[in-house]
Amino acid sequence: MSTDARMPVVFFGHGSPTNVIEDNRATKAWEKIANSMPSPKAILCVSAHWCTPGSAVTAMQTPRTIHDFGRSLPAALFDCQYPAPGSPELAARTAALLAPTEITLDQSWGLDHGTWSVLSKAWPDADVPVVQLSLDTGRSDREHFDLARRLVPLRDEGILIMGSGNIVHNLGVMQWDEAATPYDWATRFNDYIKDCIIQDDMERFFSYADTGDDARNSIHGPEHFWPSLYALGARDGDPVKFHTDFVQYKSLSMTSLVFGG
Ligand code: ZN
Repeated sequence: MSTDARMPVVFFGHGSPTNVIEDNRATKAWEKIANSMPSPKAILCVSAHWCTPGSAVTAMQTPRTIHDFGRSLPAALFDCQYPAPGSPELAARTAALLAPTEITLDQSWGLDHGTWSVLSKAWPDADVPVVQLSLDTGRSDREHFDLARRLVPLRDEGILIMGSGNIVHNLGVMQWDEAATPYDWATRFNDYIKDCIIQDDMERFFSYADTGDDARNSIHGPEHFWPSLYALGARDGDPVKFHTDFVQYKSLSMTSLVFGG
């Protein structure tokens, strides 16, 4: 791949899959983020919704659109397709960068809703190739971060590295009310993490458990939090800009991060 202007790194706070069939403040911001950067040659996405033992990248030419959500959601969502091509070339390049960590070249996954619910708004033409990198459930926070640091060279090859998840994600106590005031702990924890990111203080970041119940309530299962570590790992010292910076449904932080660009 040729050398180009360095691409930014993005962490998208994703919400309900219903964003796909809405036009709201989150989806407008995702469009704006995409329009603020050169068109990527390809996208490497780390979604909260693909957790595997060990690491894998999607390596097929034509990834399927995975409708990985409950049947209670509107039927129109199940008709949505995001027909972006894959990129076996980017999959191989990613595996090479992450060596000696063994990376499975996957032929069975595709694009889950953590990926396509955002991309269908940000890059609606679906003409940019997309590869997903899975979340290895055996890794610690620091190990996810360290893995992501090895991906930095992709930024100089026209590749957009993106995470899709949530800094605060607790569905168990969520209330489907757009106007509901966020839980205090959700706001406090989101602010704590944002402050660590502004200061680029990863030691304080990794000490988030010191916030006690704030952290326990906000990271209710790590899979939505981990994708942020991929944006942070590939950050390479760049300053942050926040977008869609609000807590929705009381316990879901929609905060998105853009580094560089
Ligand atoms: Zn999700």
